[in-house]
Amino acid sequence: MPTPDLILTNARILTMDDARPTAEALALSGETILALGTTAEILALATPSTRVIDAGGRTVLPGFFEGHVHLGLGGAELAHLHLDHLHGIEEITAAFRAFAATHPDRPLLMAQGADYGMLGHPISRHDLDAIIADRPIAMMSHDHHTVWANTAALQATGLMHGAPMPHGHEVVLDADGLATGELREFEAFGPLITLGGEARINLGIATGEEPATPPTAEERAADKAMILAGMQHCAKHGVTSLVNMDGNRYTLELLAEMQAEGTLLLRVKVPFHFKPHMDLTALERASAMMRDFDSAWISSGFVKMFMDGVVDSRTAYMINDYVDQPGHRSFPLFAPETFKEIATEIDRRGLQIAVHAIGDGAVRTTIDGIEAARAANGARDARHRIEHIELIDRADIPRLGALGITASLQPPHPPGAMEFPLEPTLTRIGKARWPDAYLWKTLATEGGAHIAYSSDWPVTDVSVLRGIHAGVTRKPFEGCADECLSLMETLRAYTAGGAWAAHRDHVTGTLKPGMAADLVMLGGDIETCAPAAIPDLGIALTICGGRILWQAGA
Ligand SMILES: [Zn+2]
Repeated sequence: MPTPDLILTNARILTMDDARPTAEALALSGETILALGTTAEILALATPSTRVIDAGGRTVLPGFFEGHVHLGLGGAELAHLHLDHLHGIEEITAAFRAFAATHPDRPLLMAQGADYGMLGHPISRHDLDAIIADRPIAMMSHDHHTVWANTAALQATGLMHGAPMPHGHEVVLDADGLATGELREFEAFGPLITLGGEARINLGIATGEEPATPPTAEERAADKAMILAGMQHCAKHGVTSLVNMDGNRYTLELLAEMQAEGTLLLRVKVPFHFKPHMDLTALERASAMMRDFDSAWISSGFVKMFMDGVVDSRTAYMINDYVDQPGHRSFPLFAPETFKEIATEIDRRGLQIAVHAIGDGAVRTTIDGIEAARAANGARDARHRIEHIELIDRADIPRLGALGITASLQPPHPPGAMEFPLEPTLTRIGKARWPDAYLWKTLATEGGAHIAYSSDWPVTDVSVLRGIHAGVTRKPFEGCADECLSLMETLRAYTAGGAWAAHRDHVTGTLKPGMAADLVMLGGDIETCAPAAIPDLGIALTICGGRILWQAGA
């Protein structure tokens, strides 16, 4: 029997393994878990070279499985200006000007964390010109679906008079044909991302294509540095596995290079991003990515698509008209019949489907496609998944479980739960539909759906503890049911649930002998701590593949 490198004793271990839900101590050897048991049993395995850490009654969990993140965006944004917690135009102006002074060479001063309603009127380039006029500046909405740019940024990117855009992406123009400064969806603000030097790392979400010319060693190093910064940030929050929700083969190649260089800290799964203009033959690239990257650390095997946008910009596709804009329902980014063909081909190739669907119309169109795939190809262990499901028609709820669909949900996303303000989202959804919005418990129980939780970082803070807090304390909207899962169900959705939904449950997500040595020790006992104190519990220790990535105070 191998000997342990590291032993944790006196812990409250929640294994997420139904065969042994709790333990007091565990031993790691190399990249895997060697044994679990009582402190006395596990200490008996120690050798003189074994490191022993006394957990002092703290909770130990499988390393958090972040089921939906954007590592490239997130890693890059760590170096941007962050507007969260600022109030009013004076504070924002001061922050932007201070940021400009400390970053004199940046071609674009980019800020994160803007709200649609933060200025009390529709935001325009003139608002941003009043902050800084002589350098390109821009700010991104929390949801990452809208950017507002100043005149200098619009001029530098050639967007001042608009630009041809695919359906659903828009450079908003005013009556005299000039850009208002509002850029809706990724392809509209893509030129700004390029101006900021972050185009390559974000190609996966922008176009799903590969870099047009092979990036130089220097460019690859710059991109890997952003990925590494993103991983270090996630590791501090106890995360050991990521499902990246955008990507391309280049992303996988960078990760493989990092693994060879010893800087791949976390396990990452990367999709092929299928865009509406592609034809079915593009899926051959997805199959090749699945074939060529299939290890315990780096994997692919799924196809990401966007079926719609977001509620706040009224680009989420609804079954009924928006109550605050009669006649408008938005539209699906894939025609329903086309989507059925695409879903069927993805499924036929043994790939997993993951679709961003926020409006109830988009959710239904996605379910219809998955249902068609199953009818054509037969049932298999596909674990197809729908991302977000912010609004659902009651008739579609039981279809999730019936089709084995995972609901990939974000506890920080509902307005009022964490960063997102109540408005304009609640008005756009309309009070009559609030009972069908942001369902968690109902999808799990009535719907029979598998639940995987995530942050969608950098859309919201990647802090899993804050996510858990939002997940167990969210107040229902007026007249609505309590949708919080229990603490244990919530922890499962951030660990074993995420691993299952990503077909990684044979590697990680539970603590049992032979599984990856991926674990997080919290700063205290989460089961006895008051819910209000969960965000501040802290992360004491993060271990991925036996390697200590984070240790508080170290
Ligand atoms: Zn996302």
